[in-house]
Amino acid sequence: MTATLTGGCQCGAVTYRAVAEPKGYACHCLDCQKQSSSAFGISVPMDAANLAVDGELGCYTKTADSGDQTNCYFCPSCGSRIYHKGKSRSGKVTIKAGTLDDTFALVLTGHVWVSRKQPWLDLDPDLPAWETQPTSPEE
Ligand SMILES: [Zn+2]
Ligand SMILES: [Zn+2]
Repeated sequence: MTATLTGGCQCGAVTYRAVAEPKGYACHCLDCQKQSSSAFGISVPMDAANLAVDGELGCYTKTADSGDQTNCYFCPSCGSRIYHKGKSRSGKVTIKAGTLDDTFALVLTGHVWVSRKQPWLDLDPDLPAWETQPTSPEE
């Protein structure tokens, strides 16, 4: 069920409102470890039209091994990554879930790139998990 999600960066210069399902997946790939400076990233997919951002964003364009490019938007003041937009997936974005005002409202739907998962992290066996990138979730 969709809800109005609000969030923003660490310093408060960037805020957003989004109409989306409060559902996300964890990605354990090395890019997400690097980007989050932690063990995994959490992405909440939604329609780009349902996301309204207030504040100025910087953009870093990441090129995957496949050649696909993703625009990665962040707060230029504090560096918090806000959302990603794949160039080959126009109309869709993924919010970085740690920026949500209410991170506890988020439901985790699964894990991708578990072949890169940190060995000390145990996953819920009831959640779907993919060794690499499945065809549906997208960073
Ligand atoms: Zn900021
Ligand atoms: Zn990833």
